[in-house]
Amino acid sequence: MHYLDHNATSPLRPESLSAMTHALAAGGNPSSIHANGRAARAIVEEAREKVAALAGADAATVIFTSGATESCNLALFGAAEGSLEGEDSRITRVFVSAIEHKAVLATAERLAERFPWIRVGIVPVTADGIVDLEALRVALREGKGRALVAVMAANNETGVIQPIAEVSRLAREAGALLLVDAVPAAGKTVLDFALCDYMVLSAHKIGGPQGSGALLVREDAPLRPQLVGGGQQKGLRAGTENLSGIAGFGAAAHALADGEGERARIAHLRDHFEAALKQAAPEAVIFGVDRLCSTSCFAIPGLTAETALMGLDLDGVMMSSGATCSSGKVTVSHVLTAMGIEEALAAGALRCSFGWSSTMADVHAAIASLTKLRERVRAKVAA
Ligand code: PLP
Repeated sequence: MHYLDHNATSPLRPESLSAMTHALAAGGNPSSIHANGRAARAIVEEAREKVAALAGADAATVIFTSGATESCNLALFGAAEGSLEGEDSRITRVFVSAIEHKAVLATAERLAERFPWIRVGIVPVTADGIVDLEALRVALREGKGRALVAVMAANNETGVIQPIAEVSRLAREAGALLLVDAVPAAGKTVLDFALCDYMVLSAHKIGGPQGSGALLVREDAPLRPQLVGGGQQKGLRAGTENLSGIAGFGAAAHALADGEGERARIAHLRDHFEAALKQAAPEAVIFGVDRLCSTSCFAIPGLTAETALMGLDLDGVMMSSGATCSSGKVTVSHVLTAMGIEEALAAGALRCSFGWSSTMADVHAAIASLTKLRERVRAKVAA
């Protein structure tokens, strides 16, 4: 089997599995003050350091959650509610890029429903899939009250890297808060938490377990807890910590501590894949230019995504089409639509995403399968 769908979820790293089984066997409630609880607390705090290091942040900024979806909800609702305390600091405008994951887009929509004084604006992207900085600058100038900007570090479908340093500068000049969804970018590029106020991470995209994530929050950024009950995590996210999930997340983050070697290896595979694809199908279109080392989003004109995914699957090659979290349901991607890609071409978009366990054999199998599928399409057209 050839797994090339790491942006959907990356297989569990052996280091994570081992940290998780250790944590499960150790057990303990990190809030208990006896020895068993203290051992569990040590596991959580060690993981907190490792996850923070992945983002170039302090451990104190890390709130463990059940995954990036919860983190996006916590950041947006938490910031909006937390900002209510001071009349001047109230968030009244939220600007999200058109290519954000639904975890941000749908949450922003709900935010506007719940808080009628919040206006949500969508910031367009260029044909290359990069957030339109001029449009953001103009948007930030309009309207009164504090703004919150959400731009992802890199897109999960195309891999296109976003100019976070420039977005951060624009946000700071306007006194706006910045939320960066760093889920696909983590480990694939160097993250700098200092550029933003809120950062979202997910364990299962870097070889950690599913159902484990984090929201990193700058110390004085507004944040009202959304899960209330116990006083865990400084009262910011109530509930007994998911000990094994956190341990596995920490181990995956630590495995990436020297991410450069892994990034170079993945980039080599991705470059090889794209060169071979261009050779096998010169008409293939690869979407986006400045991309993460891990992602190729492409279409072979005439080959629909549905046919391709089935054909690839029969050959033991796993890729995806459309948005990560809706694999299995072929819809035209909102990301490609935002880039102005023609619908017929976008409908054939496939995403091949590489990660820690990818090999050159995966690349060869994918190219062999795609070559066969393309020949079939061409034979049908010729008939
Ligand atoms: N943000 C991005 C960019 C993603 O790709 C995903 C998952 O695909 C999420 C958020 C949601 O992550 P989780 O599965 O941890 O809730």
